[in-house]
Amino acid sequence: MKDFENKVAIITGGSFGIGRATAIAFAKRGAKITVADYIEDMETVKLVQAAGAEALFIKCDVSKAMEVKTMVDKTITAFGRLDYAFNNAGIEGPSAYLHEYTEENWDKTIGINLKGVWLCMKYELPHMLKQKKGVIVNCASVAGLVGVSRLPAYVASKHGVIGLTKTCALENAKLGVRINAVCPGVIDTPMIDRITGKDKIVEMKFIDMEPIGRMGHPEEVAEAVTWLCSDAASFITGHAMAVDGGWTTQ
Ligand code: NAD
Repeated sequence: MKDFENKVAIITGGSFGIGRATAIAFAKRGAKITVADYIEDMETVKLVQAAGAEALFIKCDVSKAMEVKTMVDKTITAFGRLDYAFNNAGIEGPSAYLHEYTEENWDKTIGINLKGVWLCMKYELPHMLKQKKGVIVNCASVAGLVGVSRLPAYVASKHGVIGLTKTCALENAKLGVRINAVCPGVIDTPMIDRITGKDKIVEMKFIDMEPIGRMGHPEEVAEAVTWLCSDAASFITGHAMAVDGGWTTQ
């Protein structure tokens, strides 16, 4: 299905994991893609091109306003418009109890996960408002819906992403721009490898959080994101959609 033909999408955190899978999913539907990441890695661009779509890599740290503005400006210069944005870049931050968390780690995690999403929307929105059409999906987490021990900044940032998503959706609901969030459960990506250290016993504990009995695949999150961007979701804005194997229904 090429329903995104002649459309343009920005994917932040596109070098690996959920971002890479989503870039490929957008490409398969025909969109031109900006892959943005603070780690320069051309593999996603190659995979997008192999799926038959145009792609551009832009180096961008989403916690830095000027880099985010440049990412959006370069996309407009290259492709002429902006239809979809998946604001996905994020870090888990170190694991520590709240009272042991350092100010530096707090600021870094909040800076990327929460300020980064705000900055992306701040610079993406004006182009979508000019077109009177566009869709933004922000990457929150199940950790934006429930507490998780020893991830205080991550959990606070993801709850914040959901609040920002709802607010931005309200502000723009009548202006043609829809804004939603996805809340992935445990998804098999480099982030989960870092958290578990690939230790089989720790991995089993994470799998046990998902009643479906396995981790999710990045492609399963990508399906939710592209669906939210599609016209099939034309009456959906301001929502935080869980993409988990039953974690949040327990
Ligand atoms: P990942 O580490 O595999 O990918 C994250 C990507 O973001 C990487 O390409 C990384 O280089 C990039 N990134 C990090 N900081 C950045 C910055 N400052 N600027 C630009 N790019 C930056 O992790 P993932 O699992 O694919 O995570 C993607 C998103 O999904 C994150 O927001 C994460 O919090 C969220 N999420 C993941 C899971 C999971 O289980 N994997 C669950 C819930 C939510």
